[in-house]
Amino acid sequence: SRQFTRPLNDLANQFNTLLSAVAGAERVFDVLDEEEEASDEREAIELETVKGEIEFIDASFSYDDDDTTIKNISFHASVGETIAFVGPTGAGKTTVINLISRFYDLDSGTILLDGHPINRIKRSSLRKHMAFVLQDSFLFEGTIRENIRYGKLTATDEEVEEAAKLANAHSFIKKLPGQYDFKLKQDGSGISQGQKQLLSIARAVLANPTILVLDEATSSIDTITEMKIQEALQRLMEGRTSFVIAHRLNTIQKADQILVLKEGEIIEKGSHEELLGEQGFYYELFTSQLKKEVG
Ligand code: ADP
Repeated sequence: SRQFTRPLNDLANQFNTLLSAVAGAERVFDVLDEEEEASDEREAIELETVKGEIEFIDASFSYDDDDTTIKNISFHASVGETIAFVGPTGAGKTTVINLISRFYDLDSGTILLDGHPINRIKRSSLRKHMAFVLQDSFLFEGTIRENIRYGKLTATDEEVEEAAKLANAHSFIKKLPGQYDFKLKQDGSGISQGQKQLLSIARAVLANPTILVLDEATSSIDTITEMKIQEALQRLMEGRTSFVIAHRLNTIQKADQILVLKEGEIIEKGSHEELLGEQGFYYELFTSQLKKEVG
């Protein structure tokens, strides 16, 4: 099975520590900005509002000197589009997503957000407009309510419940002892994998981001919960620019653009129908393994 690589992985691991260490932390990223990453350029700008148009122009990146992980990638995501990344494990899907979030900076090329090179935007400003729904949900020891509210710390109880309803999480929460006051353990045990995802969707609904980053779960989840997740995700993605590491047929077929990555390059680009028509790598992937899982 695939792993979500650093640094998002680290982020999940450090989450509990960070949260208890920093009272009133706005977002977990603010902390990481200071502790882990290079500081912003002095002239870095603040973006109050963004539309969510993202463009990669000849973007290349390597984690170390001997191997280029991302090779001359170019694509354009219009406002509100869903971009799905598919391809074998190690192809660079996670890396592209890390680059959009500016966990790393490019070696060459440019990434533009609404026409601004993202390395001239303050990281905190960039990430204020983004929400993440990842395989390993960032849940912490605390109540369900606190975990959802993390998407927007000023949210009222009503807003938290409203978000849970939109995320299809409300009905399972109502069945828990204490309902929204049900306490999650540090390791997140007490609820199922699928329910954790619904919570992380509820948190993203509350955060109301312009840009959404999703890494669809590959773990097996019962059919009914899976349908709830799919429906909630479609609702969440509506009207936002969304980048999805897609493992589900449903998401892939509905994507505006599918970018097929192989060894760090985009080898095919188009809609599901277009790519099937090309009878290339995507077609092979689709016919051989897509029914179960992609990449
Ligand atoms: P995918 O998400 O498509 O499975 P990744 O973006 O995770 O692919 O990985 C692309 C390549 O970069 C792989 O060869 C992987 O081993 C390497 N890689 C990923 N993360 C790191 C890292 N933090 N340091 C060094 N190499 C990495």
